[in-house]
Amino acid sequence: MDKRQRRRLGDLLAKLDDGERTRLTKRAAKLRQAALRTMTGDARRPEMEDFLLRLLDEQEEAAAGFAAPDGGAAPAPGIDGSRRGTVIGVTAGACIVQSGDDSLDAVLPADLTRRQQSGLAVGDEVLLEPLGEGHRVTAVLPRRSLLTRADPHDARRARAIAANIDVVLVMVAAKAPPLHPRLIDRYLVAVERSGARAALAVNKVDLLTDAERGEVLDLLQPYLGLPIPVVFCSVTTGEGIEDLRGLLAGATCVFVGQSGVGKSSLLNALHEDAAAKTGAVRAGDGRGRHITSASSLYELPGGVRVIDTPGVRRFSLDAADAVRLADGFAEFAPFAARCRYRDCTHAHEPGCAVKAAVDDGAIAHSRYTSYRKLLGDDDDPRQGDGAENTV
Ligand code: GDP
Ligand code: ZN
Repeated sequence: MDKRQRRRLGDLLAKLDDGERTRLTKRAAKLRQAALRTMTGDARRPEMEDFLLRLLDEQEEAAAGFAAPDGGAAPAPGIDGSRRGTVIGVTAGACIVQSGDDSLDAVLPADLTRRQQSGLAVGDEVLLEPLGEGHRVTAVLPRRSLLTRADPHDARRARAIAANIDVVLVMVAAKAPPLHPRLIDRYLVAVERSGARAALAVNKVDLLTDAERGEVLDLLQPYLGLPIPVVFCSVTTGEGIEDLRGLLAGATCVFVGQSGVGKSSLLNALHEDAAAKTGAVRAGDGRGRHITSASSLYELPGGVRVIDTPGVRRFSLDAADAVRLADGFAEFAPFAARCRYRDCTHAHEPGCAVKAAVDDGAIAHSRYTSYRKLLGDDDDPRQGDGAENTV
């Protein structure tokens, strides 16, 4: 960050109140951590300030009416032919970039190719310069959120799977496959870590008898009190689909959840006429825009953008996620502030206000049990539900 940027950052921060500054700093720290996890040694390590400035710029842009690029505000090529766009597909050594109405093929520079698994993801905002007949990526802009998963060959390394996501819709089926709240907990921890917001869709409610509806509601009670939207829906009957559309309007999102819960069905329902299953995507946005079939970014009516890639479909909690695990349990926060030790893990420490809240019934036992299991604690007396390894 140069002097001028630093001064600008200082000016912008000075305008904020304490609460807002704390909130932004926390987000910036989280984003930086996510970015660092995907980096190899050679690249410049971004500073906290880089992320703070990016977040502040975004807020200003949003306030001025230039919110997240929706493709409408086509960024015109610069004098030198440079452009800005959104990555909608990634292949070996190259990517497809949507820039205004154009989808452009762009090659990646060598350093990005080398760390392509972590360096670039669908949803990334990039700068391009002309190269021969096509384009070349010159920069990947800082991300506002990043979903990662562990590299299958090296669990300590993270792979970027989708960038700049606003909402991760965690999808479960009320029945078939059976509902395991513990899976929801794992997803919520992973989403919290990405910097995106979580929402919960409970699909296939059409399959439930009245008695089963009651049971499902009981199981999900702890989630209804969390600061995340919960929508009961059925892609089959259409119940709740408009609520979901409203919830996702204007957002870039991904659907995560076990196979068979209805993610493709929902994508189809939201797209009305699209054939998500075949992967043949045509953007039906009324402006004649056409997105190539290699795209993993679906533009749906209502300004909903969905990223669906095999990586997203395999998205789950990886080993490294145990760091700051408690952040993924939003209802712990007000109590955690009152624990005797500041670095309390809410497991064996005396004076733990979270454990006291569990005993008082203020925090659901099932959620606390999930937390302890994720923490790697085996001496919790409660039985698991056998769902640990199924995400
Ligand atoms: P995905 O693996 O998460 O993408 O799940 P799919 O969208 O492929 O759905 C799995 C199966 O569940 C398909 O046979 C769907 O027709 C069915 N399905 C999806 N949504 C519903 C629903 O709301 N109710 C019922 N009864 N079946 C559904
Ligand atoms: Zn504690």
